[in-house]
Amino acid sequence: MIENVPFTELISAERIAARVAELGAEISRDLAGIDELTVVCVLKGGFIFTADLVRHITIPCRIEFIRASSYGTHRASTGKVMLDHHHDPHVEGKNVLLVEDILDTGLTITRVLEELRGHNPASLHVCTLLDKPSARTTPVKADFTGFTIPDVYVVGYGLDAAGKHRELPYVASLNA
Ligand code: 5GP
Repeated sequence: MIENVPFTELISAERIAARVAELGAEISRDLAGIDELTVVCVLKGGFIFTADLVRHITIPCRIEFIRASSYGTHRASTGKVMLDHHHDPHVEGKNVLLVEDILDTGLTITRVLEELRGHNPASLHVCTLLDKPSARTTPVKADFTGFTIPDVYVVGYGLDAAGKHRELPYVASLNA
């Protein structure tokens, strides 16, 4: 009997690995000339993507973390983005690459970008693994995007549903 899993694979681990390697190469090429890249990982969802991505970037990196939460344990955006200031990243005068798991409404990244710009970085680029452009309410675009996906709730490869499924090696949509 086939095990009844609560999700359906959308992007395999192999496709993710290949695309992350390509993204690392694109970033290294487009930002060539920079002597150091400050990679700011948006926690928690960005932790696996960031860890894999930086190993494909040939520019020397410094890794920082920022914690943003907008969803709590619900799947609908609360419209409010909370930033954890215990993790204030050191970005003043730095060339920054912000690494997100997913762009949905765009609220979170807009808030984080606003915060980072307030610290006067030398340059600021955004890389997201996943993009759901059809869900956007705030106009924002990533400089580097892994995969464009439809407006479905996804888990795995760092992304959770109420704290679960982050460890899945692939990206999956939750079954209703
Ligand atoms: P936004 O502020 O763009 O609506 O949402 C961004 C944040 O919401 C992401 O960093 C992520 O934490 C969460 N999010 C948005 N869509 C999804 C999704 O499909 N799956 C999961 N697990 N989180 C999502």
